[in-house]
Amino acid sequence: VLVTTIDEAITRLRAHGVTVTPARRAVVAAIFDTGEHHLTALEVVHRVERTRRRPDRATVYRTLDLLADAGVLRPVHLGTGPAIYHRTDHTHAHLVCTSCGAVVEIPAEAVDELTRLLERDARFTIEPDQIVISGLCAMCHDV
Ligand SMILES: [Zn+2]
Ligand SMILES: [Zn+2]
Repeated sequence: VLVTTIDEAITRLRAHGVTVTPARRAVVAAIFDTGEHHLTALEVVHRVERTRRRPDRATVYRTLDLLADAGVLRPVHLGTGPAIYHRTDHTHAHLVCTSCGAVVEIPAEAVDELTRLLERDARFTIEPDQIVISGLCAMCHDV
């Protein structure tokens, strides 16, 4: 079952035996309240600092780990800089701008053909969400 809401994320954590404290709930809410699907741990820290409950940094990091263990989030390593956490609710790969760091999603349909060919010809099982292609985004390219 795909996790797309705060409540579903909380339910998933509990199913994994996690005690969901108010502070942890605030972290989950800060992640799922935004339309942003790719956040570094530090970005989550900055988000919760603006909330009433203000969970501390250790709670943010621990909650990210617990969400990853429960399969709700997954860390993606971009090659440089900190890992980004993304939601596992939809398959996609990533374009990353080497100038401004922008992350753009490559939709599943666009990566399906490539992963299908590689799995067939190289007998390699691909994890599409770990695919990262670097380059320049439209804004940086036009500067
Ligand atoms: Zn992603
Ligand atoms: Zn850019």
